[in-house]
Amino acid sequence: SPMERLQKVLAHAGVASRRKCEELIRAGRVQVNGQTVTELGVKVDPTKDRIAVDGKPVRLETRKRYLLLYKPTGVITSVRDPHGRRTVIDLVKDVPERIYPVGRLDYETEGLLLLTNDGELAHRIMHPRYELDKVYEAWVKGHPDEEALRRLREGVLLEDGWTFPAKVERLAERDDRTLLRLTIHEGRKRQVRRMCAAVGHPVLALKRVRVGFLTLGSLRPGEYRELAPDEVRRLK
Ligand code: URA
Repeated sequence: SPMERLQKVLAHAGVASRRKCEELIRAGRVQVNGQTVTELGVKVDPTKDRIAVDGKPVRLETRKRYLLLYKPTGVITSVRDPHGRRTVIDLVKDVPERIYPVGRLDYETEGLLLLTNDGELAHRIMHPRYELDKVYEAWVKGHPDEEALRRLREGVLLEDGWTFPAKVERLAERDDRTLLRLTIHEGRKRQVRRMCAAVGHPVLALKRVRVGFLTLGSLRPGEYRELAPDEVRRLK
Protein backbone atom coordinates (compact mmCIF):
# COMPACT_ATOMS: atom_id res chain seq x y z
CA SER A 1 0.00 0.00 0.00
CA PRO A 2 1.25 3.49 -0.80
CA MET A 3 -0.04 4.84 2.56
CA GLU A 4 2.59 6.86 4.41
CA ARG A 5 2.64 8.93 7.54
CA LEU A 6 1.80 12.53 6.76
CA GLN A 7 4.94 13.98 8.35
CA LYS A 8 7.10 11.61 6.32
CA VAL A 9 5.40 12.59 3.06
CA LEU A 10 5.83 16.27 3.89
CA ALA A 11 9.48 15.78 4.74
CA HIS A 12 10.11 13.83 1.53
CA ALA A 13 8.50 16.61 -0.45
CA GLY A 14 11.12 18.96 1.00
CA VAL A 15 8.74 21.00 3.13
CA ALA A 16 11.00 20.78 6.20
CA SER A 17 12.64 18.23 8.50
CA ARG A 18 10.47 15.40 9.87
CA ARG A 19 10.46 17.07 13.30
CA LYS A 20 9.50 20.47 11.87
CA CYS A 21 6.75 18.85 9.79
CA GLU A 22 5.30 17.33 12.95
CA GLU A 23 5.19 20.81 14.44
CA LEU A 24 3.43 22.14 11.36
CA ILE A 25 0.79 19.42 11.67
CA ARG A 26 0.23 20.04 15.39
CA ALA A 27 -0.04 23.78 14.72
CA GLY A 28 -2.98 23.10 12.36
CA ARG A 29 -1.15 24.34 9.30
CA VAL A 30 -1.44 21.17 7.22
CA GLN A 31 -4.44 20.18 5.11
CA VAL A 32 -5.24 16.85 3.53
CA ASN A 33 -7.86 17.03 0.79
CA GLY A 34 -8.94 20.39 2.10
CA GLN A 35 -9.32 19.24 5.72
CA THR A 36 -6.96 20.44 8.43
CA VAL A 37 -5.16 17.56 10.14
CA THR A 38 -3.65 18.04 13.61
CA GLU A 39 -3.01 14.42 14.64
CA LEU A 40 0.38 12.88 13.99
CA GLY A 41 -0.74 9.32 13.28
CA VAL A 42 -2.61 10.13 10.07
CA LYS A 43 -1.60 8.19 7.00
CA VAL A 44 -1.99 9.51 3.50
CA ASP A 45 -1.59 8.25 -0.03
CA PRO A 46 0.99 10.55 -1.66
CA THR A 47 -0.16 9.40 -5.10
CA LYS A 48 -3.76 10.46 -4.50
CA ASP A 49 -4.27 12.73 -1.51
CA ARG A 50 -3.92 16.47 -1.95
CA ILE A 51 -1.64 17.80 0.73
CA ALA A 52 -1.22 21.49 1.50
CA VAL A 53 0.61 23.64 4.03
CA ASP A 54 -1.11 26.90 4.91
CA GLY A 55 -3.47 26.21 2.03
CA LYS A 56 -0.62 26.02 -0.48
CA PRO A 57 -0.40 22.68 -2.33
CA VAL A 58 2.75 20.72 -1.62
CA ARG A 59 4.50 19.66 -4.78
CA LEU A 60 5.29 15.98 -4.56
CA GLU A 61 7.69 16.11 -7.46
CA THR A 62 8.55 12.46 -7.24
CA ARG A 63 5.00 11.57 -8.11
CA LYS A 64 4.71 11.04 -11.84
CA ARG A 65 1.54 12.43 -13.31
CA TYR A 66 -0.01 11.50 -16.65
CA LEU A 67 -3.06 13.41 -17.75
CA LEU A 68 -5.12 13.10 -20.89
CA LEU A 69 -6.73 16.46 -21.64
CA TYR A 70 -9.39 17.35 -24.18
CA LYS A 71 -7.87 20.66 -25.15
CA PRO A 72 -10.54 23.11 -26.23
CA THR A 73 -9.94 25.66 -28.97
CA GLY A 74 -8.76 29.08 -27.85
CA VAL A 75 -6.18 27.82 -25.38
CA ILE A 76 -2.45 27.76 -25.97
CA THR A 77 -0.31 24.69 -25.51
CA SER A 78 2.44 26.07 -23.35
CA VAL A 79 3.07 26.54 -19.69
CA ARG A 80 3.04 30.33 -19.81
CA ASP A 81 1.94 32.85 -22.41
CA PRO A 82 3.64 36.25 -22.65
CA HIS A 83 0.34 37.67 -23.94
CA GLY A 84 -1.62 36.39 -20.98
CA ARG A 85 -3.84 34.03 -22.95
CA ARG A 86 -5.30 30.98 -21.28
CA THR A 87 -2.96 27.98 -21.34
CA VAL A 88 -3.63 24.27 -21.03
CA ILE A 89 -2.01 24.39 -17.58
CA ASP A 90 -4.74 26.79 -16.43
CA LEU A 91 -7.23 24.00 -17.11
CA VAL A 92 -5.70 21.57 -14.61
CA LYS A 93 -5.60 23.71 -11.50
CA ASP A 94 -5.93 20.90 -8.96
CA VAL A 95 -2.68 19.23 -10.02
CA PRO A 96 0.16 20.50 -7.82
CA GLU A 97 2.98 18.90 -9.80
CA ARG A 98 4.74 20.91 -12.46
CA ILE A 99 3.39 19.17 -15.54
CA TYR A 100 3.86 20.19 -19.14
CA PRO A 101 2.33 19.31 -22.49
CA VAL A 102 3.68 16.50 -24.66
CA GLY A 103 3.97 18.15 -28.06
CA ARG A 104 1.72 20.90 -29.32
CA LEU A 105 -1.72 21.62 -30.58
CA ASP A 106 -2.38 24.97 -32.26
CA TYR A 107 -4.36 27.65 -30.43
CA GLU A 108 -7.37 26.96 -32.66
CA THR A 109 -6.98 23.15 -32.70
CA GLU A 110 -8.87 21.02 -30.20
CA GLY A 111 -8.43 17.48 -29.04
CA LEU A 112 -6.26 15.00 -27.26
CA LEU A 113 -3.22 16.34 -25.45
CA LEU A 114 -1.08 14.51 -22.92
CA LEU A 115 0.40 16.35 -19.96
CA THR A 116 3.08 14.88 -17.75
CA ASN A 117 6.08 15.56 -15.56
CA ASP A 118 7.78 12.42 -16.89
CA GLY A 119 10.37 13.92 -19.21
CA GLU A 120 11.62 10.59 -20.47
CA LEU A 121 8.20 9.43 -21.58
CA ALA A 122 7.37 12.82 -23.10
CA HIS A 123 10.53 12.70 -25.18
CA ARG A 124 9.80 9.18 -26.37
CA ILE A 125 6.24 9.98 -27.40
CA MET A 126 7.32 13.02 -29.39
CA HIS A 127 10.06 11.16 -31.25
CA PRO A 128 8.95 10.24 -34.77
CA ARG A 129 10.92 6.97 -34.53
CA TYR A 130 8.55 5.87 -31.80
CA GLU A 131 5.84 6.01 -34.47
CA LEU A 132 2.78 6.71 -32.42
CA ASP A 133 -0.20 7.28 -34.69
CA LYS A 134 -1.69 10.70 -34.33
CA VAL A 135 -5.17 10.80 -35.74
CA TYR A 136 -6.87 14.05 -36.72
CA GLU A 137 -10.32 14.89 -37.96
CA ALA A 138 -10.20 17.90 -40.22
CA TRP A 139 -13.06 19.77 -41.80
CA VAL A 140 -11.56 21.13 -44.98
CA LYS A 141 -12.87 23.60 -47.48
CA GLY A 142 -14.39 22.14 -50.62
CA HIS A 143 -14.41 18.55 -51.80
CA PRO A 144 -10.98 16.98 -52.29
CA ASP A 145 -10.90 14.75 -55.37
CA GLU A 146 -9.04 11.43 -55.58
CA GLU A 147 -5.93 13.21 -56.84
CA ALA A 148 -5.84 15.48 -53.77
CA LEU A 149 -6.33 12.51 -51.44
CA ARG A 150 -3.60 10.58 -53.27
CA ARG A 151 -1.17 13.47 -52.78
CA LEU A 152 -1.98 13.65 -49.07
CA ARG A 153 -1.44 9.89 -48.79
CA GLU A 154 1.82 9.76 -50.70
CA GLY A 155 3.41 12.86 -49.22
CA VAL A 156 3.16 16.59 -49.75
CA LEU A 157 6.05 18.97 -50.33
CA LEU A 158 6.01 21.61 -47.60
CA GLU A 159 8.52 24.39 -46.89
CA ASP A 160 10.38 22.05 -44.55
CA GLY A 161 10.37 19.05 -46.88
CA TRP A 162 8.17 16.13 -47.90
CA THR A 163 5.73 14.69 -45.44
CA PHE A 164 5.73 10.95 -44.81
CA PRO A 165 2.87 8.93 -46.25
CA ALA A 166 -0.36 9.49 -44.34
CA LYS A 167 -3.55 7.54 -44.00
CA VAL A 168 -6.45 9.61 -45.28
CA GLU A 169 -10.15 8.79 -45.27
CA ARG A 170 -13.18 10.80 -46.26
CA LEU A 171 -15.71 10.67 -43.39
CA ALA A 172 -18.45 13.10 -44.37
CA GLU A 173 -19.42 15.78 -46.86
CA ARG A 174 -21.46 18.94 -46.46
CA ASP A 175 -22.38 21.62 -49.01
CA ASP A 176 -19.00 23.28 -49.12
CA ARG A 177 -16.76 21.24 -46.86
CA THR A 178 -15.47 17.72 -46.24
CA LEU A 179 -14.52 15.88 -43.09
CA LEU A 180 -11.25 13.98 -43.43
CA ARG A 181 -9.54 11.63 -41.03
CA LEU A 182 -5.76 11.85 -41.32
CA THR A 183 -3.27 9.62 -39.54
CA ILE A 184 0.31 10.88 -39.31
CA HIS A 185 3.37 10.00 -37.24
CA GLU A 186 5.22 13.28 -37.47
CA GLY A 187 4.43 16.36 -35.48
CA ARG A 188 5.68 19.31 -37.47
CA LYS A 189 4.36 22.75 -36.79
CA ARG A 190 0.82 23.15 -38.18
CA GLN A 191 1.44 20.06 -40.25
CA VAL A 192 -2.13 18.99 -40.98
CA ARG A 193 -3.14 22.55 -41.81
CA ARG A 194 -0.20 22.95 -44.15
CA MET A 195 -0.74 19.56 -45.82
CA CYS A 196 -4.38 20.25 -46.56
CA ALA A 197 -3.70 23.80 -47.72
CA ALA A 198 -0.95 22.47 -50.00
CA VAL A 199 -3.48 20.33 -51.89
CA GLY A 200 -5.94 23.21 -52.17
CA HIS A 201 -8.28 22.44 -49.26
CA PRO A 202 -7.59 24.69 -46.26
CA VAL A 203 -8.57 23.36 -42.85
CA LEU A 204 -11.66 24.98 -41.32
CA ALA A 205 -11.63 23.06 -38.03
CA LEU A 206 -9.15 20.58 -36.64
CA LYS A 207 -9.40 18.04 -33.85
CA ARG A 208 -6.94 15.40 -32.67
CA VAL A 209 -8.95 12.33 -31.76
CA ARG A 210 -6.26 9.75 -31.03
CA VAL A 211 -2.61 9.41 -30.01
CA GLY A 212 -1.40 5.80 -30.18
CA PHE A 213 -4.08 3.73 -28.45
CA LEU A 214 -5.39 6.69 -26.45
CA THR A 215 -8.66 8.28 -27.47
CA LEU A 216 -10.78 11.12 -26.10
CA GLY A 217 -13.45 8.68 -24.93
CA SER A 218 -16.28 10.51 -23.22
CA LEU A 219 -14.24 13.58 -22.29
CA ARG A 220 -15.63 16.93 -23.30
CA PRO A 221 -13.59 20.03 -24.20
CA GLY A 222 -11.70 21.28 -21.13
CA GLU A 223 -12.03 17.98 -19.27
CA TYR A 224 -9.20 15.64 -18.43
CA ARG A 225 -8.51 12.37 -16.75
CA GLU A 226 -5.55 10.61 -15.22
CA LEU A 227 -4.09 7.77 -17.28
CA ALA A 228 -4.50 4.36 -15.66
CA PRO A 229 -1.24 2.64 -14.63
CA ASP A 230 -1.84 0.10 -17.37
CA GLU A 231 -2.11 2.84 -20.01
CA VAL A 232 1.14 4.38 -18.79
CA ARG A 233 2.82 0.99 -19.05
CA ARG A 234 1.61 0.54 -22.62
CA LEU A 235 3.09 3.91 -23.58
CA LYS A 236 6.53 2.92 -22.32
N1 URA B 1 -1.44 19.77 -37.23
C1 URA B 1 -1.83 21.04 -37.23
O1 URA B 1 -1.87 21.68 -38.27
N2 URA B 1 -2.18 21.62 -36.06
C2 URA B 1 -2.15 20.97 -34.90
O2 URA B 1 -2.48 21.54 -33.87
C3 URA B 1 -1.74 19.63 -34.91
C4 URA B 1 -1.39 19.05 -36.08
